[in-house]
Formats: sequence, C-alpha cells, structure tokens
Amino acid sequence: MRTLFSLFILLLSFKANAFTLNNTAKLVFTEDEVKVNVASGCTNIGITDAELLELVGKAVDNFWNKSPTSRLKLRKGSVINVDARFHSDSICTASTNCDPNPVLAVDSDILISCNLNATNFPSSSILGITIPNNIAGTRIVGSLVLINDKADTQFDTKSDDAKVAILAHEIGHAFGLGHSPVQDSLMYYATVSQRKALGRDDIDGISYLYPKQQPISGCGTVDMSGGKNGSWPGLFIGFSIIGLAEIYRKRKGSKQIQA
Ligand SMILES: [Zn+2]
Repeated sequence: MRTLFSLFILLLSFKANAFTLNNTAKLVFTEDEVKVNVASGCTNIGITDAELLELVGKAVDNFWNKSPTSRLKLRKGSVINVDARFHSDSICTASTNCDPNPVLAVDSDILISCNLNATNFPSSSILGITIPNNIAGTRIVGSLVLINDKADTQFDTKSDDAKVAILAHEIGHAFGLGHSPVQDSLMYYATVSQRKALGRDDIDGISYLYPKQQPISGCGTVDMSGGKNGSWPGLFIGFSIIGLAEIYRKRKGSKQIQA
C-alpha cells in the first residue's frame, strides 16, 4: 500500500508582542467580514455623513485590510438612521468600570456615530471613544464608536488624512485591540497626525485575534517520489517561510490624545 511521508519545516520567529487587547478576554468577531456603518446626524465635525462614510472606507482599506496575515476584512457599510440616544447618551452606565449602556447596544458589525455627551467627552481633545458593547461570551456581536461632535470638538480641525487615521484607530478598538506601547503603531494612544499605514505591532495584533488559515497544500510542495519499491514512495516538503520586513519611520508632528 502506498504510504506518504510528510515533513513540515516551520521557521518560527520568537519575539515579544507589545499589542494589548481592549479587554482581559479575547473578544473577537466570528465573521470574516464586518461592515462599518455610519449613523446619520453629525453636526460639528466639519464633514457630512456621506463624507464621513468615505473616510471610513479609506480607514479600513488603507490600514486594516492591508494586513497580509489576518482573515478579517472590514467593509465600508452605509449611512443609517439610528435612535437619537446614540447622539446624546453616555456610552457607559458607570464611570469607573464601564458597563456598556444597553440602549446603545449595536445589533451587528461596527457602528460609528457622532455624540454630544459631556461624560463621554469631558475634553475637546478626546476625539473618539469605542467599546464592543454587544457581547455573547467571547464573541463580539456589535461595537460602537462615538466621535466627539460637541461644539468645541477638535475633530473638525484635523486634515482628512488625520481623520482617516483616527477612525482606523477607533475601528481597531472596535474589533478587539487595546493600545500599543509601541509609538510606531496606529494603536499607540496618541496619533501621529500624518500616519498612513499600519505598524508592525498593529499587524501582530490583528493577526493574533484573526489569524489567517494557511491551506496545508497551499505552500510549496515538492514531489520527490523515486523508485518503485515503495520504501520512500513520496516525500512532501512544505516550506512555510515567513518574511518579515520592518520599516520604521520617524515622523515629527503634533500628537493628539485619543481614547
Ligand atoms: Zn485608543
């Protein structure tokens, strides 16, 4: 009987990851595709609801969807009508340990809404806050991103590129990441205003939460079958080679505190 001998060689990179999760539990969406919708009704952020949705599309495509090693694909959703309380209510019902406000539970996917609540935004420099607020076990059912829409918000003073980076940062929280202590990261607590790409730690984080499955036959397979005696009828060697490139950019610019 024909037998097969398989040898898999894995080149492992041992390193310490620096990313954090937004909860002690590993909360994730179970879907491979998650939409990011925008709630209609922004007033003070300097752009229309439709323009905000366009920036959301850039935030997912220019940042998270460029991660080569994660399965999660984020999609630009649509502008939707929501209950007025999404614009007025606090995201938490307790100020110390945040208990998500149940009336703002997001049914599915990610919702970005403007919000005027002073408890959410005690400072004009807090541009956005985010929490997965509809949880089933360790599964994220829906997440809410609130953008500071108060009259003194600093969101409207940002360039479109900076707004895209801010939205991408909040979306990172929405699918499960916390802050990174690595300054060259989108998930660093302060946003470098001209940031246009993920950092290494961002890719590590999304790939940890949403690992892409590598088909077992999808990498180089070499048939070294030889002879007819059946002693070594087949030798399959799978090489899984992970090439990691690091590009560190030193950028100067003003930093903006984000939640
Ligand atoms: Zn943050």
